[in-house]
Amino acid sequence: MTPEARQERLQVEALLAASTPSATSDKRNKAPPRVQFFAWLLVRERIQSCAHLHRRKVLDNATCEVCSEADETAAHIMFGYPFAVSFWSALNITMPEETTTAQLCELAPASHVPLAYYSTFLLLCCWQPWKRRNWS
Ligand SMILES: [Zn+2]
Repeated sequence: MTPEARQERLQVEALLAASTPSATSDKRNKAPPRVQFFAWLLVRERIQSCAHLHRRKVLDNATCEVCSEADETAAHIMFGYPFAVSFWSALNITMPEETTTAQLCELAPASHVPLAYYSTFLLLCCWQPWKRRNWS
C-alpha cells in the first residue's frame, strides 16, 4: 500500500469512526451503508462531480453548472453551492474557507451536537447537499 493510499484509508476510517475521543460507547457510525459508501468516495474526491468526470475525460470541462464561477469539485458541492452554504449555516456549523472533503474528519465537532453521534450526524449532513444536487 502506498503512503498516499494509507493516508486515504486513515482519513476514511477516521471519518467513519467516531470523531471524538469522548465517544466511548459504540464508536461505529450509524449512517446507512450507502451514505457510508458515499463518504468513502467523498473524502477521495471520487463522487461524480464535474471535476471528477472531467479528470476521467467524460466531460469537456469541470465548470459548475449551478454558478459557473468555479470548478464543481466535491468540496464545491459540499461547501460552495448556495444550498450547501445555507444548509451548514442553518445547522450553525462553520466550515473553514477552502475546506477540502479530505479534511472533514479533522474538523472540530460542533459543540451543539452530541459527541457520541457526531460522525453519523456529519455523514448524514454531507449526504444532503449531494442529494439536493442530484435529485432536486
Ligand atoms: Zn457552483
